[in-house]
Order: sequence, then structure tokens, then C-alpha cells
Amino acid sequence: MNQADKDPCAHCEEMMQPYLDHILTEQERVEAEAHLDECDWCRRRYRFEESLRVYVRQAVNEPMPAELKRKLAALRIPLN
Ligand SMILES: [Zn+2]
Repeated sequence: MNQADKDPCAHCEEMMQPYLDHILTEQERVEAEAHLDECDWCRRRYRFEESLRVYVRQAVNEPMPAELKRKLAALRIPLN
């Protein structure tokens, strides 16, 4: 019972960051996804972590507000 000795969820968690970074090997990715298929808890953790990353990314690369863009564009239009 080698495999059962290891906590599959702990193993899955170890792979979470590299999984989200897309740096897992094909083999590891398949392993992680197989576990996510059958483990609701890990699937939720992965989703949560993923949404957190999206949020952080958006906060970092916050696009210029549309209103500000319009004002800047208006400044370049000659007023006749
Ligand atoms: Zn799990």
C-alpha cells in the first residue's frame, strides 16, 4: 500500500502552484487532473486559487479607465 500511504490531497496541493503556472510535466498534469476529477475538495481549492490569481493579475495590470481614455483622446482633437 505505497500509494495509500501518501495523502493524495497533499500531493495534489504540492502540484497546485506549478499546475497553475503551467510548468508541470505532461505526466504530472494528467495525475493532478485525475485527482481533481474525483476530489471535490481539491477541485474547489484549485478553482479558488485560480480565481485569486486572475484577481491579482487584474489588480496589477489594471487597464486605463475608459473615461480617462476618452478625456485623453478629446485633448488631442483640435477645437475648431
Ligand atoms: Zn484531493
